[in-house]
Amino acid sequence: MKFITYQIEERQNIGVLDHSGEHICDINKELGTEYVDMNHLIAEISDSELELLRSKLDNSEINYRVPLSEVKILAPIPYPKRPFFCLGKNYSEHAKELIGLPGAEGDIPKFPIFFMKIAAPAIGHLDTIPNHKAITKMIDYEVELAIIIGKDGINIAKQEAQDYIFGYTIANDVSARNLQRKHSQWVKGKSLEGFAPLGPCIAHHSNFETPLQLAIKCWVNDELRQNSNTQNLIFDIPTIISELSKGMYLRKGDIILTGTPSGVGLGFKPYKFLQPGDTVKCQIEGIGVLQNTLAID
Ligand code: MG
Repeated sequence: MKFITYQIEERQNIGVLDHSGEHICDINKELGTEYVDMNHLIAEISDSELELLRSKLDNSEINYRVPLSEVKILAPIPYPKRPFFCLGKNYSEHAKELIGLPGAEGDIPKFPIFFMKIAAPAIGHLDTIPNHKAITKMIDYEVELAIIIGKDGINIAKQEAQDYIFGYTIANDVSARNLQRKHSQWVKGKSLEGFAPLGPCIAHHSNFETPLQLAIKCWVNDELRQNSNTQNLIFDIPTIISELSKGMYLRKGDIILTGTPSGVGLGFKPYKFLQPGDTVKCQIEGIGVLQNTLAID
């Protein structure tokens, strides 16, 4: 199942894609529930409600649906309760492409590199990324698999990590490289307004076999820049959840960005940063496509 937050007639609503991929089913009308947003749904939806939804989709028993073409897709969680938890340098080819660059430290990390990124709001598929031209000309793209946490937990064992995952989505960890370097810590350069595209949906964990082996790609305009597979993560998903939750609660609705493969603009010589009007298309197998354009003005 693929969960979507969407706007219809100025209202924000939550739905699930039907099997054709062309219609969104209204979850609250279909289940008789009153979830106010995706965070509420993630926190409260029961196994029996999920099963009922799945059964209705499988048997084409959906009563309340609208064509995807008639709605605006929003980020699945437009206002996360907490900033994104992120990993730096979690694909070895990406870690290697950064070696020797000004401000880059070290080699392949021995432990996960965690940092946070403010997403308030996260922007959705087809939204425009502001270009912030007064403060940066070094805007970069980073396609990433994002984990959506579905259950509160602390000190989570690797072998139990899967029980804490609601699903997965796509993030573009947009970054202003000059600010990332200037301020030493990455939070500023990664938290500018509109730098957190997320979506288009949350694909439920039950859609996938583990460990995840999903093709992950990113195009700028028509040029394929990033092309890898989530099996190439240095620290895999159970390790990320286990390490991050040591002595610290992960909460329902938390979003963890698992790192980006090689091929970012910073990795080319000369650099290939985004130019105003460029379109970035991020794609992960089994989840979908997240496309955004850098503002011209
Ligand atoms: Mg990143």
